[in-house]
Amino acid sequence: MKIEHDIHVHTHLSSCSSDPKATVENYLKLAKDRGLKLIGFANHFWDSNVPGASEWYKPQNFDHIMKIKDEIPQDTLGVKILIGCETEYCGNGKVGITKEVADQLDFVLIPISHLHMEGFVRDESITSPKDVAKLMVNRFKEVLELDLATGIAHPFMPLGFINVDEILSHISDDEFRECFSRAAELGVSIELNAGCFPGNHGKETDLFHDESIIRPFILAKECGCLFHFASDAHSLDHMKSLFTMERTINILGLTEEDILPLCRV
Ligand SMILES: [Zn+2]
Ligand SMILES: [Zn+2]
Repeated sequence: MKIEHDIHVHTHLSSCSSDPKATVENYLKLAKDRGLKLIGFANHFWDSNVPGASEWYKPQNFDHIMKIKDEIPQDTLGVKILIGCETEYCGNGKVGITKEVADQLDFVLIPISHLHMEGFVRDESITSPKDVAKLMVNRFKEVLELDLATGIAHPFMPLGFINVDEILSHISDDEFRECFSRAAELGVSIELNAGCFPGNHGKETDLFHDESIIRPFILAKECGCLFHFASDAHSLDHMKSLFTMERTINILGLTEEDILPLCRV
């Protein structure tokens, strides 16, 4: 199966993108060159209607992310564009988007594991591998029930932690199956994020091997989940990492039918 979409692309509008070349026009050119038929822009977002944004999120509101519309050229080079967002989930039902705003976007990605955002997404007291694992499982289940997510961004990738093997070892196959069966039932897409598979980049470490992060995706496929691809590019060049996912597609044995219908062009 060829990779023909990427629905997790940040432009210069995201505060953590420092690449002035990360524009719609440049991404479209790259997409066309590499055979992509669809790009979904998913800048970081917190809805001003929801209280309790962090200082980092506050400026990244709806008006801000929708500035992207002014950048879309008349001729999109035959590449379909979707305008979505990557919002935030802080636990206890606190999510950075309202239903009204979600309905105005083409798609909504919700992460469960921006655990590097200490004091906002993760309480400082949660540091042990077992507690981190439990947090991700609970948040995954909670996000599904919000009825807001098109897809879960980089599921079970504990950002900010390097001991990924150990953290994921605390989640049993049955726990993963419980999570993914519900996602399949609700049609919430599981993200295949190019940054989450170190083996594809020759970047496995003693504490993080591909097989740890591949296990949940094998189980997700068994449970009948739908998937989408994501470069999570924050710079123009970074989008090319998407194509390292061909290795993961082969490992998982993915076909067109496994792809979220929104992403099939
Ligand atoms: Zn993210
Ligand atoms: Zn992202």
